[in-house]
Amino acid sequence: MEKKYQEVLSKIKQADSILIGASNGLAISGGIHIFAENADFIEQFGDFCEKYGFRNIVQGAFYPYPSEEEKWAFFSRMYAYFLKNKEASPVMKDLYELVKDKNYHVVTSNTDSHFTLAGFPNERLFEIEGNSRYLQCSSGCHDQIYQGDEILSDMARNQEDGRVPSQLIPKCPKCGGPMQVHVEVDRNFLKGEEWQMSFQAYKDFIEKAHGKKLVLLELGVGARNQLIKAPFMNMTNQEENATYITLNMGSEVYIPEEIAAKSIGIDGNIAEVLHQLVQLK
Ligand SMILES: [Zn+2]
Repeated sequence: MEKKYQEVLSKIKQADSILIGASNGLAISGGIHIFAENADFIEQFGDFCEKYGFRNIVQGAFYPYPSEEEKWAFFSRMYAYFLKNKEASPVMKDLYELVKDKNYHVVTSNTDSHFTLAGFPNERLFEIEGNSRYLQCSSGCHDQIYQGDEILSDMARNQEDGRVPSQLIPKCPKCGGPMQVHVEVDRNFLKGEEWQMSFQAYKDFIEKAHGKKLVLLELGVGARNQLIKAPFMNMTNQEENATYITLNMGSEVYIPEEIAAKSIGIDGNIAEVLHQLVQLK
């Protein structure tokens, strides 16, 4: 195993560019599991689970709440759950430590804001499906997203019986209608100026990396993922000097034959693997 780790470290050291792709598996290794009905979920969201019957955070995010007061009780508590300690998890700190001095960019479908928490700057982050600390107009009447930290913390602190007081509920400053978190929960998710800029920065990074030594570091992305995994594999295939490094659990470590010679797969707990890598660095 140590040989594999040394190989990963040497690829990272030599790389001109590192593209990090992360999904749910990375969040899980940092303690946030949005698809699980685990002890954490019961403790944090048990009353919602009883009232509405949903079994995990994702189901809660897609639930058609009967009122704004109830909707915001859930989303503000989700915000508090994601960001309650306001400190990055050890796995995110290790990841940052591993790449902080390199030329890197991140693409992620995680919406928990944990890259930001760990110190990754916004201009190097492409959060494809949004970020739950920002707000937008629910009907997408105008193209702007708003920092929601203050409103969300307020609502998280002041809810009772699964409801937020009406006067705390955010209203769209343009149309006066309801707002929602800037997370892709429906087709009104804003892919406006900010999202496009972020997408462009990601594309620019890839374009500049062309022909150079590129490491594609994939963390906890499911085998069927099309949003991140498929483009990463294509790039590995097309780029002569690319190395594909995938960290995942068990059968999720999938490397197709075509790129096997350019790939390193590590099966294990991502938090432990990244910690090992930082130790050996
Ligand atoms: Zn509006």
